[in-house]
Amino acid sequence: MQYYSTNNHSPLATLEEAVVKGLAGDKGLYMPEKIKQIAPAEIADLKNRSFHEIASLVARTYFDEDIPGDVLDGIVRETLSFDTPVVHVGGNIYSLELFHGPTLAFKDVGARFMARLLGYFIRKRGEKGEVNVLVATSGDTGSAVANGFLGVEGIHVYVLYPKGKVSAIQECQFTTLGQNITALEVDGTFDDCQALVKAAFMDSELNQKMMLTSANSINVARFLPQSFYYFNAYAEMERHGLAQDLVVCVPSGNFGNLTAGLFAKKMGLPIKRFIAANNRNDVFFEYLQTGTYTPRPSVATLANAMDVGAPSNFARILDLYGGEGDVHAAICAQIAAARYTDEQIAETMRNVYQKYGYILDPHGACGYQALEDGLQPSETGVFLETAHPAKFKSTVDGILGIDLEIPERLRAFMKGQKQSVAMSRDFAAFKDYLMAQ
Ligand SMILES: *Cc1c(COP(=O)(O)O)cnc(C)c1O
Repeated sequence: MQYYSTNNHSPLATLEEAVVKGLAGDKGLYMPEKIKQIAPAEIADLKNRSFHEIASLVARTYFDEDIPGDVLDGIVRETLSFDTPVVHVGGNIYSLELFHGPTLAFKDVGARFMARLLGYFIRKRGEKGEVNVLVATSGDTGSAVANGFLGVEGIHVYVLYPKGKVSAIQECQFTTLGQNITALEVDGTFDDCQALVKAAFMDSELNQKMMLTSANSINVARFLPQSFYYFNAYAEMERHGLAQDLVVCVPSGNFGNLTAGLFAKKMGLPIKRFIAANNRNDVFFEYLQTGTYTPRPSVATLANAMDVGAPSNFARILDLYGGEGDVHAAICAQIAAARYTDEQIAETMRNVYQKYGYILDPHGACGYQALEDGLQPSETGVFLETAHPAKFKSTVDGILGIDLEIPERLRAFMKGQKQSVAMSRDFAAFKDYLMAQ
């Protein structure tokens, strides 16, 4: 299958080119040329299948023209070493818990899949050298990518993070790994880290010396596999007789997760509609209200993985509905939006804990509240609980007045030895460092 750029000024790419390059040459995002349907009989049979079988079906639908079936099946099996259960919270609201992977956040699925797919392409290319993944992180992306790529041959990962600005729990998840993972502790902000990565991708001398790629949700290999758990959640709801009038709510930042859900629906999954939940970074909410998209700098909130002022996958959402006349009307027919302040997030966390004993993390709290505010009585709502609350322990403890237990997987990271390279926010120094590797 060929992939085109949302900016339409780059040549079509193969899957391999799209995955290795990340972003198209014209700075657009790659989109598959067609979205193949999954037959209604297969959809009706999902409830009789395991998560692995469901994910393999979806993976084949995306990638079977490009990856041999047994290879793809192996990648799916290795990616999904954990489950994504649906848990009843209260009323007609359910939590799709995506935090049972190695770094306790949903990004594990996409990062693990991408690492294995990229690893396959590199092995196929033979001795043509290593690929270097550069990733700037404010916390969650770095841990998922570092752990997903750990030990994958032919790939080296550089995680750039702002010194003193990520929590100790987050930092240990990408600074203690060693092997093919290098943590660069940048004397600056998250924006400085991102600027260094962008400058590196633009630098021709650097790109001649080493193959560079990115592992955020602009990469098709990272965002498409996120469709797997939408299909699995539907199957689980059907087993309970609750799949009619299903509304799925996605706490959103860069909108990769929601876009994967929109793809699932285009493939034939019967989701009635979506709700995008925002924190105070509400450019998407405003777009739905006004029809005008105005990206702006992000503001810091309790749900910090959603602190995005210019969501990168917005271009994909526009493209997905671009053929349907009035794009804004077409998007509004599929997606509603809600936005919450930090005070509202805290209040939701307290209410849900008191009423139902369920501990939400600040991101999931936006998702839950958007369903409570937006569901019609005939509808059933599922929100994506994108991270384990212990990843935000001090926030959660402070709001709920509890001492949340840290899962064993997180504690194991905290025992490791921190290894990082100090880096200035000056590009020349970063470039010298990379050139010397
Ligand atoms: C990354 C992240 C999000 C936002 O996901 P997008 O795909 O960028 O919209 C939400 N919650 C958590 C916990 C995250 O780590």
